[in-house]
Amino acid sequence: MKFSGKNVLITGASRGIGAVIASVLADYGLKVWINYRNDPAGADELKASIENAGKCAAVIKFDASNESEFSQAVSAIIQCDGELSYLVNNAGITNDKLALRMKLEDFSSVINANLNSAFLGCREALKAMSKARFGAVVNIASIVGEMGNAGQANYSASKGGMIAMSKSFAKEGAGRGVRFNCVTPGFIKTAMTNNLSDEIKEQYAKNIPLARFGEANEVAQAVAFLLSDYASYITGEVLKVNGGLYM
Ligand code: NAP
Repeated sequence: MKFSGKNVLITGASRGIGAVIASVLADYGLKVWINYRNDPAGADELKASIENAGKCAAVIKFDASNESEFSQAVSAIIQCDGELSYLVNNAGITNDKLALRMKLEDFSSVINANLNSAFLGCREALKAMSKARFGAVVNIASIVGEMGNAGQANYSASKGGMIAMSKSFAKEGAGRGVRFNCVTPGFIKTAMTNNLSDEIKEQYAKNIPLARFGEANEVAQAVAFLLSDYASYITGEVLKVNGGLYM
């Protein structure tokens, strides 16, 4: 993979898909900024494993849904490295309930964690990257933002909103040399899907043409491609990584 930029910030990278994205991008030669909110040990462990492999990593704590914290984090990175080349908005939560039982607070808290955080990231990245007239952002949305899912009115709205928002940022960023794309994972083996019962997992797997849950590495490679120079003519796109579950 070929990258003209030198560094990348990944939100929510102390575990799960975010941690694997950080490792993969470090392997491709980028300095990775590992964002965490609650898990300093996980972030430090990941930094150490990347450095042990001879690659470059730094840890940065902030709440991605907090406007001033996100903006200060981007400033701190630019102060340290002179630029922010790439951003991956990966931080996300679920709070599943049937819509009939979903309180407004259950809905808004997921929108805030997933969509507002991605908005803040896209806006701060566009500001920073416009100055360099170079950069790329990948937003980690979800298959559920494309096809909906019972029990996830809040999560699907946040991820569907992320897809539409990315296309708007892509239109605003294009003239400034900044690309915005989404990756929409299907069911990937992480803590988030471990919460599903075995019965539900089996039921989902039966409907997946490739007949299995995906690996975080399979998402990370798609992210790396969209950030890389190989995707230099791709913006406003949605790359599905879902084993064919939704085509
Ligand atoms: P995960 O294991 O639950 O990890 C989510 C990460 O996001 C955690 O490190 C969490 O850190 C962080 N986070 C949440 N809110 C944050 C905030 N406000 N500020 C900073 N960090 C925050 O989930 P995952 O499976 O790796 O998912 C990663 C992304 O992929 C999410 O956006 C998810 O929606 C998306 N996705 C996952 C799947 C799947 O099957 N796993 C499918 C489609 C899409 P703390 O716990 O410290 O807050």
